[in-house]
Amino acid sequence: MSLTFEEARERVDAYISQFKEGYFPPLLMLARLTEETGEIARVLAHEHGKTPKPGEETGDLEMELADLLFVMLCMANERGLSLERGFERMMAKVEGRDANRWTRKEDARP
Ligand SMILES: [Mg+2]
Repeated sequence: MSLTFEEARERVDAYISQFKEGYFPPLLMLARLTEETGEIARVLAHEHGKTPKPGEETGDLEMELADLLFVMLCMANERGLSLERGFERMMAKVEGRDANRWTRKEDARP
């Protein structure tokens, strides 16, 4: 399966656009983003914490990350922003600014 940023953006927009309520207002979306981030933290804490809560399901990290991506796409769509463009700008930043920040593997020298 292959999915482009634009396809994901369009699919989320098509889903949201079928409802009268439309996108949540910005601060409610921020609350959802924070909620999903907390759910990711809960999965990781369960997997790597010293004392997982007894009886609690481990959770599904892949699904929680996808939940977060959905909220991020909603936030970008509502504001007319492009996550693809943002991703490209971010990668240019880390590939440039941080090019020599980390210890390269022997077989990964440019
Ligand atoms: Mg979730």
